[in-house]
Amino acid sequence: MEIRDITGSPMEIYIHIPFCIKKCDYCDFLSGPSGPKEQEAYVQALIEEIHAVKEGKGRSVSSIFIGGGTPSVLDARFIGEILNEIREKFLIENNAEITIEVNPGTADRKKLRAYRSYGINRMSIGLQSPDDRELKILGRIHNYGQFLETYKNARDVGFDNINIDLMSAIPDQTYEGWEKNLCTVAELEPEHISAYSLIIEEGTPFASRKLNLPDEDTEYNMYEATARILREYGFEQYEISNYAKDGRACRHNIGYWTRQDYLGFGLGASSLYGKERFANTADREIYLQNSSRPELIREREPVLTREDEMAEFMFLGLRMTGGIAKTDFEQNFGCPIEEIYGEVLKKYKSMKLLEEKDGRVFLSREGIHVSNSVMAEFLL
Ligand code: SF4
Repeated sequence: MEIRDITGSPMEIYIHIPFCIKKCDYCDFLSGPSGPKEQEAYVQALIEEIHAVKEGKGRSVSSIFIGGGTPSVLDARFIGEILNEIREKFLIENNAEITIEVNPGTADRKKLRAYRSYGINRMSIGLQSPDDRELKILGRIHNYGQFLETYKNARDVGFDNINIDLMSAIPDQTYEGWEKNLCTVAELEPEHISAYSLIIEEGTPFASRKLNLPDEDTEYNMYEATARILREYGFEQYEISNYAKDGRACRHNIGYWTRQDYLGFGLGASSLYGKERFANTADREIYLQNSSRPELIREREPVLTREDEMAEFMFLGLRMTGGIAKTDFEQNFGCPIEEIYGEVLKKYKSMKLLEEKDGRVFLSREGIHVSNSVMAEFLL
C-alpha cells in the first residue's frame, strides 16, 4: 500500500498496554493479567512496530497517551524504552502533552519519579470511587487509602496535571453517595476529572449478575449534579464526561474529538490517518509475531468518504460542550453546514436539543442526555 505523507498539521500518538493485575468485574477492555516474560515480549513487539511504521514522517506530535489496561503494571524502564523509540522516530513538540494511565497499587514513588524523568507530564489515575465498599463491588484491586498514597506521591514527584477517573451508577450507589464521592475527590484539587456512568457490557461478570442499579431518574440527577457540583469546585465541563480546571482540558482527547490524525500502537490500537481509519489486530499471537510488519497486523476500514468525514466531524465535535464551529465545517468540506444538515439542525433546535450561539452549534443540557439519538441523525 502506498503511504501518504501528510505534513503540516500535528498528529497524536496512542500506546496500548493490555495488562492489568486482574480484571475488574465490569470491564470489557482489551486487557488482562500477564507475567513478566509476556510483558517483556510485548514491549519488544511494540518497539518494533513503532520502529517500522511509515506514517508520521515529517509530522510533529502534539500529544502521546499511554493507556490500557494498566500501563503502570509494567516495569518503569519499559515505559522509558517505548518513549525513547517514539522520540527516535517522530518529532515530539517541546510542550507535547504526555499522559500515562496509572492504577493505585501499581506505582510507587520510584516508578512515578521515573515517569517524570522520561518527560511524562500528565497522569490519569483510575480511582472510580473513594468508597471502599463500592471499589469492592467493582472488583477493583485497590482501596481509597492506596489511591491517596499514589496521588500524594504523584504530587511530590512533580506531577502538576492529574486526572482522576470516577464512576457513577455503581450497584447500590445512591444519589447522596455520588454527591459525596464527587465532593471528596474535588476537594483533592486535581486538574481534571473524568466522570463516566457504569455501562453493563456483555460478557463481563456484571452482565450475569443481578445488580441493584440506580434507576433512570437517579442517573439523570447524578449526571446533572456532576456538572453543578464540580463547577462549584472550579471545574468546567468541556465534554459529555469530562471536567477540567481552566486550561487543563485533555489535549489528546480534544485532538480525537476534532479528528486530528493519530497513530495507535499496540494490540487492538486504532488510528486515524488522512482519510483512513485502521485498527491493529486484537489477537496477541498475531501481533507478537508480526508487529515489525505493520501491514500484517492492521485491519482496515474502507477509506472514509466525504459523507463519513462530515458525520464524524459532527458526532465527535458535538461530544464537546462547545460543539462545532460552522465556519470549521465550511472550511473542511467547502459548503455551508446548512446545505448538508439544515433539516436536522432545524429539527433539533426546535426540540431544544441543539443550540446555536456565536456561530457554534452544540448540544443543550437536555440534548446531552439523549446525545446518542441526536448524533445518529448526522450519519448520511
Ligand atoms: S484496571 Fe481498567 S482496564 Fe484493567 S480491568 Fe480494571 S477497568 Fe479494565
